[in-house]
Amino acid sequence: MKSVIKSNRIYTENGIVSGYLVLENGVIKEITDNKPSNIEIEDFTNKRVIPGIIDIHNHGFGGWSMTDDAEIKDVKGFAHSLATVGVTGVLPTAKEEAFEAIADTMSQSYVGANIYGMHSEGPFWARGGEKTIGLTWPLPDLEETKRLVEKAKGSMKMMAIAPELPNAYNVIKYLHEQNIKVACCHTNSYADDIYKAEKEVKLDIATHLGNGMRGIHHRDVGALGGLLLENNIYYELIADLNHICPDMIRIMFKLQPCDKFCLISDSNYMAGLPTGVYLRYGREMFSDEKGLIKNSDGRICGSGKWVLFNMSQLEKVVGVDFENIVKMASLNPAKFLNIDHLTGSIKVGKQADIAIIDDDFNCYKTYVKGEVAFDKKSDDVNSIFNQEALSKKVRELNS
Ligand SMILES: [Zn+2]
Repeated sequence: MKSVIKSNRIYTENGIVSGYLVLENGVIKEITDNKPSNIEIEDFTNKRVIPGIIDIHNHGFGGWSMTDDAEIKDVKGFAHSLATVGVTGVLPTAKEEAFEAIADTMSQSYVGANIYGMHSEGPFWARGGEKTIGLTWPLPDLEETKRLVEKAKGSMKMMAIAPELPNAYNVIKYLHEQNIKVACCHTNSYADDIYKAEKEVKLDIATHLGNGMRGIHHRDVGALGGLLLENNIYYELIADLNHICPDMIRIMFKLQPCDKFCLISDSNYMAGLPTGVYLRYGREMFSDEKGLIKNSDGRICGSGKWVLFNMSQLEKVVGVDFENIVKMASLNPAKFLNIDHLTGSIKVGKQADIAIIDDDFNCYKTYVKGEVAFDKKSDDVNSIFNQEALSKKVRELNS
């Protein structure tokens, strides 16, 4: 299959180009200012053509949940729905109930974001999210870790753990032996705990930097300060501006280059669905315009926004240069996953993983390996979303 896209703003790995992007047999064949002949040209002159987004921390989208019992159809629905917001690569951030279905889906063909493996955010946590009350978590345990890794059938790519917990280093060493990336998450670490863990066992990435960790205080800079003072750690960032305020993001970017950051959604299965009140296991869940999803106790349960939305906030509110934003959404996560030779940027020879967006960050078309995974002109987004989840909406927010 061959496609030609025309745009004034093609965000290539080497800068913004005006011209024609030629996709052929799944790869980027050519970026040229000579109009190719004998082929229909898709005219996206005033749209931005960017590399497809790679979201390494995503629990669900479009009504499809990766944190519940899942079947192959749920995983395929999840991958397809992500293409509606420009995502071409994902690590489903799953609970073990979904591991088998994810692993099985990976060996099949499906339309939508490419699944590069699984991410287990836990289970060895030291603290929950904000306003968590009454929850406890298991202590790090090697046998339990091995059981989870085996259950993922060789597809576990990343596991998150609080490094200060007893026995955490043994778990981290085992994960590294299995070529699994280790994330520092939901931690009560002080700065010194971070330096020690980094020196003795190495942390690969910080889970949602700033969230679920001790913040910066002027007498102890906490896990946040400790992580920002290390130079060999990647950082996940939720830039929906609900989780972190714009000035904290500015401070982060003053301390570390944008090459270190991977934009993530941390989205919940309700992300993408119309706002309102939904039933979930018989309880009401509230999803609002700002992207907050709360249960009836008022606790935030993940984000209701997606990476493309977060990119708009970084450009319009925080004032980050768009070329750097594109890197944080695609090339950096590809480098983190060691797949940047295959994908993550618009460069001749790489996979044709492309998203076409307008200046309001609406997605018009998404290609995964050169195949159309979403086309705003012909696809009805609501039919890609999970019909059962959509039917659980009980009322609007203020009624
Ligand atoms: Zn998460």
